[in-house]
Amino acid sequence: MKEAYKIVELIKAAKNIVITSHRSPDGDSIGSSLGLYRFIQALGQSASICHPDPCPSFIEWVKDDAVIIDFEESKTEVVEKMQAADLIFCLDYNGANRLGHAMGEVLTACKGTKVMIDHHLNPDDFVDVSVSEPSVCSTAQLVYELVNDSGNSDLMTAAIGTPIYLGIMTDTGSFRFSSVSSRTHEIIAKLIDAGVDHTAIHQDTFDNNRLDKLKLRGHIIAERLEILAEYKVAIISVTEDILESFNYIKGDTEGLVNLALSIEGVEVAAFFTEKGEDVKMSFRSKGELAVNVIANENFDGGGHKYAAGGINHDTVENTIAKFKSLLPKYF
Ligand code: 5GP
Ligand code: MN
Repeated sequence: MKEAYKIVELIKAAKNIVITSHRSPDGDSIGSSLGLYRFIQALGQSASICHPDPCPSFIEWVKDDAVIIDFEESKTEVVEKMQAADLIFCLDYNGANRLGHAMGEVLTACKGTKVMIDHHLNPDDFVDVSVSEPSVCSTAQLVYELVNDSGNSDLMTAAIGTPIYLGIMTDTGSFRFSSVSSRTHEIIAKLIDAGVDHTAIHQDTFDNNRLDKLKLRGHIIAERLEILAEYKVAIISVTEDILESFNYIKGDTEGLVNLALSIEGVEVAAFFTEKGEDVKMSFRSKGELAVNVIANENFDGGGHKYAAGGINHDTVENTIAKFKSLLPKYF
């Protein structure tokens, strides 16, 4: 990472540092934020983590004593922190709109120097320093490279390494996606040498299911799955009423779209989740179809060839109908 020294100089010179990441946080946005936060502390500085919305419960454990201030809960505090910041990190996203409209506008109006560290394609021009590495599996891996390439590998500890491991693990489907490189495994080896307990991370993340969560997932697969055999497409969906009946909390349906994708013969999976007046979509592909193209051209979204998402202002039923009507065009 050629910007590593420059970024560390910015950290050392800053008075108020804020770390932001995208809406609907995942293991990589949380992991890269906390890894950077603790690296900044190891450099003798401090930072505030300001996210659009709360951390999902399945990775709450990784926060330990760190605080994530979220815009949904503490709007005024987040706005004050961002306005006062002279250095703002934009982790794991490629455009201000990925913070959501309101927080995105706050970011755009901020005076502080903005540094993006991200691995999504086609970043917007919204920052002062841009580290964009779409071939790298995760932003957490890029945070590792920042530590390493700025000559600070001696500062790597289990505290910094654990969230980095989490981010890499979750963004690679536990090290299985094609985005994993030999470098990824080299980094994992270094993290284990630094004291990271990989077994504990997997257990804390994946072996801590609430019964309601498993029942909800079972219900969606049993009752809300449709397979369109001629397109090799699996569709799953959920309404707010159903979520409520299973005492839904954020993160309960995380990764469920991948379960639909794992069905034999299925090459594309789409998951439709009712959210107020909108429907949030998650798309996955393991075949030729680039789901980010469908998301981008029709659902105000984007992402990668094999994992994308978007949003539609309509009912679940109508959104699924729209998706189905598009399939002849894309296959
Ligand atoms: P997920 O299905 O896990 O929510 O999202 C998968 C990927 O799709 C994310 O890593 C992100 O790149 C992309 N993505 C999801 N939702 C959106 C969206 O609303 N807009 C854009 N541009 N990309 C999205
Ligand atoms: Mn990521």
